[in-house]
Amino acid sequence: MCGFALAGMVTVAVPGLVGTDSSRVHLAPGRSASPEQCLAGARVVDPEANPQFSEGGHLTPQQAALYDQQLQEALVPLRGQKLEPPHTVPVVVHVISAEDGRGEVSDERVQKQIDVLNAAYSGEYAGGADEPADAAAPEDAARAAGVAEAPEAADTGFRFELSEVTRTANDEWFTRFSTHRDTIRSELRQGDAETLNIYTSDLGTGLLGYSTFPQDYESAPEQDGVVLAHDTLPGGDRERFNLGHTGTHEVGHWLGLFHTFQNGCSSPGDYVEDTPSEREAASGCPEGRDTCPEDPGEDPVTNFMNYSDDTCMTHFTEGQATRMVEHWEAFRAA
Ligand SMILES: [Zn+2]
Repeated sequence: MCGFALAGMVTVAVPGLVGTDSSRVHLAPGRSASPEQCLAGARVVDPEANPQFSEGGHLTPQQAALYDQQLQEALVPLRGQKLEPPHTVPVVVHVISAEDGRGEVSDERVQKQIDVLNAAYSGEYAGGADEPADAAAPEDAARAAGVAEAPEAADTGFRFELSEVTRTANDEWFTRFSTHRDTIRSELRQGDAETLNIYTSDLGTGLLGYSTFPQDYESAPEQDGVVLAHDTLPGGDRERFNLGHTGTHEVGHWLGLFHTFQNGCSSPGDYVEDTPSEREAASGCPEGRDTCPEDPGEDPVTNFMNYSDDTCMTHFTEGQATRMVEHWEAFRAA
């Protein structure tokens, strides 16, 4: 839908819109969406630091509704079929670094990122204490305490296997990734709709990563993939966000998930039944937060599709797992 479905259809103000998402909604009729329209799956630390992500990476209610409409239409021919969790997803990681070596990500750290994805999508972070020893900082004892009441984690059925790492040393690409983003992805992307391409680079101070959605693939296959700030991979220098769950979160978008705070307290929220609604993104790891007191359940602070710290995140729900499989079958499965 990037640059196509949005053109000319969104010039209205949105009732019930949370926060600051007005600017991108007001496209002139008939004009194509800007490239940023395709980046709505962002994970942002400090939206103020990234003017182009002033919405905090949120989709407007209309954009979310369009994505969901596309999903529902694509699922019609699949009705009656049993949707099986897919096989293993091949992953190609493209490391963009500076010519002096800044931003290099070792093969070991790349593999650790894959390990984190596999643990997260298997449900192995449930309860915090059972997390894989390699995947988290060992001194993180607080984590186990903080997430003792974590909801049950789904095994989503998705597994990830590293197939290749490409390395590009290019100062211009590294320091101005967003400017050259489309070129970089067009030149480097490999595989088909089932292949997960991950790009690592410098993304500036406030932005952790972003992703395209499965629905975007058809119109812009060469742009499909996940972009991660290099220091968010396991062992990186990014405080609070260096256990690899930016990767977990962005791949969630790549498989079709919205943020848990999508649409705030308004129905249909994030289009997932078993994630309680939430007025806005969480930060840190607040306990007992309940920003939609009229609705059942406390905020899903520990869900991977929130903005909480890496140490706080523990799980996807069964509903999210089902929705990811639906997206896979509808848009990615061969
Ligand atoms: Zn996100």
